[in-house]
Amino acid sequence: MSSEKLDDICPRLDVLPPQPTQPASPPIYAASVYRCDSPEQAEKLLAGELPGYVYSRDGHPNADLLSGKCRELHGAARAVVCGSGMAALAAAALSQLAAGDHVLVSNQLYGRSSQLLTSEIARLGISGTLVDTCDLTATEAAFTAATRLVVVETITNPLLRVPDLAALAELTHAQGARLLVDNTFASPILCRPLQLGADLVVESLTKIMSGHSDVLLGLLCGRDDCWGRVPLVLSAWGLSSSPFDCWLAARGLGTLALRIERAAANALAAARFLATRGQVNRVHYPGLPAHPDHHLARRQLGGRFGHMVTFTLAGGRPAAQRFIAAARRIAFCPSLGDLSTTLSHPASTSHRALSPESREAQGIDEGTIRLSVGIESAEAVLEALGEGLAGV
Ligand SMILES: *Cc1c(COP(=O)(O)O)cnc(C)c1O
Repeated sequence: MSSEKLDDICPRLDVLPPQPTQPASPPIYAASVYRCDSPEQAEKLLAGELPGYVYSRDGHPNADLLSGKCRELHGAARAVVCGSGMAALAAAALSQLAAGDHVLVSNQLYGRSSQLLTSEIARLGISGTLVDTCDLTATEAAFTAATRLVVVETITNPLLRVPDLAALAELTHAQGARLLVDNTFASPILCRPLQLGADLVVESLTKIMSGHSDVLLGLLCGRDDCWGRVPLVLSAWGLSSSPFDCWLAARGLGTLALRIERAAANALAAARFLATRGQVNRVHYPGLPAHPDHHLARRQLGGRFGHMVTFTLAGGRPAAQRFIAAARRIAFCPSLGDLSTTLSHPASTSHRALSPESREAQGIDEGTIRLSVGIESAEAVLEALGEGLAGV
């Protein structure tokens, strides 16, 4: 006779009912830990000698499902999902660099990436130097004997410059270093940096890859010979991902190609429209022939130019303020890649840490607005922009 009380029934570990049919959508494996059969099995699982999950900080099925899809999209040998884009960049830096090393950093990197790769890693004895990676001569001259890594973005923020990835890979390898590309603004639909010679790719899956502004995740993928330290770094520094976020992101990937196709067509229409308006001083979009990297972008991005469009209003901050207030259908959200068109104001958000002089040197002023163009109809996007401009 069992002396079991009602209190003892529910705390028991669950066993799944037998399942002869496969679910059409993947389950969410929320478990933080898995049951081991024996000390022998546990030892082998933890040593990686047997396939299987033990503790979800080291890996879980939803992360593997998502990283598997991303690995295929990039044609990568290895891929891992991290808790955010910054966690993926941290995993790259911590796995590739050690005290005494030097990293060459694009001077147009995402603000937090730039901080991580200069001031933060300086605390670990790693030095980082900023350089204009669209200028190959300046980049080559900036290498030192200690340079191990070069970090660039496929399409930069907010001016949407496009560096020559194949040329940078060649130059970097000739110096015995590795090229890491942040491909967030492009996604593998527009650009697969590993196929152009890059060694490692990071992406913020938070943005267009997931596409619905409801998860925070990052991807690190790359060549097999760069991968040695990555699993340990991920687990020891605690950079891993949430199963529910991975499930949402994998679902978002299902529509990635369609979303990009529509958003890029809308972005081109928006850029052309803005270029004809008197209130607009300048439009930055790699799809416009006037963009400094137009020809390179055409080749490197496969004839589409992405969903981001930046423009500068003639009237400085007052004009930006009036535009933002009047463009009621475009939410001011300092992120990107959502289904709906959103905008950001770099001078007060992503680039607020820069002095007005260095912003000006980059070509950003108080009138600069960055659009993340969504998948609405093109007419709706142009109308929403027209409403904003009418208020300027
Ligand atoms: C957002 C972003 C990141 C950081 O990603 P999180 O998911 O926010 O941590 C890195 N690089 C670029 C280009 C980004 O836009």
